[in-house]
Amino acid sequence: MRVHALEYHDVMESGQESGFPGRAADSYKLSVTDFEAHLLALADITSEARCSALDLAGPVPAPPVLLTFDDGGCSALTTIAPRLERAGWRGHFFVTTGRLGQPGFLTEAGVRELRSRGHWIGSHSESHPLRMAALTDAELRREWSHSVGRLSDLLGSPVTLASVPGGGFSRRVASTAAAAGIRVLFTSEPEVGVKHHAGVRVIGRFTLRRGDGSIRAARFARGAALARWREWTWWNGKKLAKAIGGPAYLGLRRALMGE
Ligand SMILES: [Zn+2]
Repeated sequence: MRVHALEYHDVMESGQESGFPGRAADSYKLSVTDFEAHLLALADITSEARCSALDLAGPVPAPPVLLTFDDGGCSALTTIAPRLERAGWRGHFFVTTGRLGQPGFLTEAGVRELRSRGHWIGSHSESHPLRMAALTDAELRREWSHSVGRLSDLLGSPVTLASVPGGGFSRRVASTAAAAGIRVLFTSEPEVGVKHHAGVRVIGRFTLRRGDGSIRAARFARGAALARWREWTWWNGKKLAKAIGGPAYLGLRRALMGE
């Protein structure tokens, strides 16, 4: 099965604060104008293809197009959800539960409201570690189980969706997510194929960053080969830099981003 999943973060009105602060996080935040142009460019995606990650267990029209939003910033409710609804979409919102209720982030009531309006809620870990794969098994279990437990309690039903902070896949990240009840795990690996690990469907995504035009979103949604290949090259170059540099890479990134 192929899945075309798009990865967004916040969508910002001017002067609004939403999600994680800092230049690195800001580089993932779209303007309202750009996001509306993206939705317009996705208008020809059929309603059957706009399914949820939970529908992937059954027969779905190939290929489904999923819109996902990481971090749990407050723009999910104020800015993103109304525009998705007007355009006939529902989003997958992945919440960093340790930030719930903090300035710039969703509240518990906000998460419940998103769900009641038909959007899907998943975990984005408890504390948003930048390198999930570097955590011990015990730390990974804690990140997933605290986050999934809190979301399931506040929604009154089991939460089985998640996305990985930092986006990298590792077998331990997936198996500890599975132990916490996760059944669909989104990474940021730019892939359209679905992997299976420890009873979890692992789905890659194509990231849209600040300044990315609507053509790029439409190409990802269609699974255009050249756009996918470019993103794959970029992502794997970054992964290589992380593997060689490790903590030094993160220090350099923070220095360059002025954090
Ligand atoms: Zn994140």
